[in-house]
Amino acid sequence: MNQGAAVLTAAAIRPDYRSGRSYRYLVISGGKVRALADTAAQAARAAGSPAFWADLGSACVGPGFIDTHVHALQAAADVRLVSLRQAASLRELLSAVREGALGRPAGQWTVSGRNWHESQLREGRLPTRAELDALGAAGPILLRRGSHLGVLNSLALARLEADAGRPGAEPIPAAGGTGHVHSDALIARALELAGGRPAFAERCEDLAAVLARFNARGLTSIREAGVDGPELALFQALRQRDWLSLRCDLLWRIAEGSDLDSAVRQIADMPPGIPAQDPYLRLTGVKAFVDGRIADAAIGGEPGREDTCAQPFRVTPADLGVIVEQALRRSGGIGCHAVGDAAVRVVLDAYERALAAGWAREPRQLVIEHALNCAPETVRRLAASGVSVSAHPGIVYEFAEEIRRYWGETNAARAAPVRDMVSAGVRVAAGSDGDVPPFDPLRGIWFMATRTDRSGGLIGEDQAIARNVALDLYTRCGAVLLGVQARRGELRPGLDADLVAFSADPLSCPVDELPDIEILLTLVGGRAVHDPARLMEGACPLWLIRRSSSTATSSMPAAPACSVTSTSWSGTARSPKWARGARPRPAAACRSSICGAHT
Ligand SMILES: [Zn+2]
Repeated sequence: MNQGAAVLTAAAIRPDYRSGRSYRYLVISGGKVRALADTAAQAARAAGSPAFWADLGSACVGPGFIDTHVHALQAAADVRLVSLRQAASLRELLSAVREGALGRPAGQWTVSGRNWHESQLREGRLPTRAELDALGAAGPILLRRGSHLGVLNSLALARLEADAGRPGAEPIPAAGGTGHVHSDALIARALELAGGRPAFAERCEDLAAVLARFNARGLTSIREAGVDGPELALFQALRQRDWLSLRCDLLWRIAEGSDLDSAVRQIADMPPGIPAQDPYLRLTGVKAFVDGRIADAAIGGEPGREDTCAQPFRVTPADLGVIVEQALRRSGGIGCHAVGDAAVRVVLDAYERALAAGWAREPRQLVIEHALNCAPETVRRLAASGVSVSAHPGIVYEFAEEIRRYWGETNAARAAPVRDMVSAGVRVAAGSDGDVPPFDPLRGIWFMATRTDRSGGLIGEDQAIARNVALDLYTRCGAVLLGVQARRGELRPGLDADLVAFSADPLSCPVDELPDIEILLTLVGGRAVHDPARLMEGACPLWLIRRSSSTATSSMPAAPACSVTSTSWSGTARSPKWARGARPRPAAACRSSICGAHT
């Protein structure tokens, strides 16, 4: 009995992005793809009766996106803060701060999110204390930029000054200065004064809101690049409440800068007992840091540039060997942050020893995170070793100016050498490193195809790849990196119904329209996790899309104001700020057989 199957009809339904094959009909049941068909009669036979039919018209359907390196937790920590991400000039930045600060009671702080950078501003500089003061806000202001820099207004400096009597307190910068603060301790203290971090329940809501934002851009699986114990508990709480709207693989983070003893202790603390067969939440390995970021990456190949990289290595090769061994004894894998070529080579040495010693069952379990700067010889070694690379071209899109400045033109032209990796046969998959660079997969795919950076210039255009290859890196290759290619990454009978419906064909639309393609529908395990037009209403009754009354902050007035009841945050796909007020709501048990989420 085929009761409860759903049939999607669309202009093109692609089982993958490489083969060129497409169908008109897709049959889903039990959370899985049951059949692909060219005719309605074939689909009807496969679906049986009764079945739910959804006509997606001219939409294109393909496998959902897999981001193999993202920071959902970091994005969640920013949900309640003023977002400066969209500002293109100081004027826009300051007006976003003013908007966030106005109407707050005199004592209340205004704090910004971290995911912006002065290089995104036409003026190319940070705002100053005086400029913040001129906004006339009644309360203290702290603009965070990245993890280690803050800009304060005079009221905030005065608050810190008043607080500075504590023993061991950090010196406060002079009130007449720029207001720029480079002290982690001072920023942490300012955040405490601002009210500290939200309660656990609020953090759960914020994380659920970020996952919904991911769904709204077509993501169906992520690999979270580093959690500690309390952060793992957040994901587990979401899983328990059935609020995980996509599949999450987590890496257990060794804190950056840990010495060997501490790193080994942290690995030993990694909790066992998250079942590897859970389709929504897995703890799949350990994350370790080997070098720095753009300004202090262990790059090589351009003599004279390395002196700009003070102390790029976070770990010695010998210590890294111990960390890799311990991580593999404890867990199913390891991902090492290595940005520069010299760091990638050090990690490769350690991985090759681990493979020779038999600590890893297969090279896929050994992942190099970023590998942004790789000499041709290193690319050949990566291919020969069979280890995985999680590549993040979006970092190059976002930080092209810094890359040119710190690495020089020659290295900048080879930043994120995805084309070389693909043609050499490296086991590479795409990720975003969002939410600092944009997490949007279609933005990353557009960058890989055009190599157009944030300012509109070209960077490393020799490394451009065809868009079907870029789409493949964000889907099938992601599944290979996660070791789940037998279950997802493509749409074939028996595989999970993790899919996305696009408003235009990502393979044939004008290339510069890629980032603007609308995501009409996202299904994870056959259930609608993003469905603003209620296309699947009736297919899976208890995961209905309902009209929400609290989407006042939506930036898309024409879009239907909807939210998914099962994970009932509001806000729409493009909303740069997160709508407040909506509370995630646990789903009732779904008994429809198209939805495999609860089985
Ligand atoms: Zn990262």
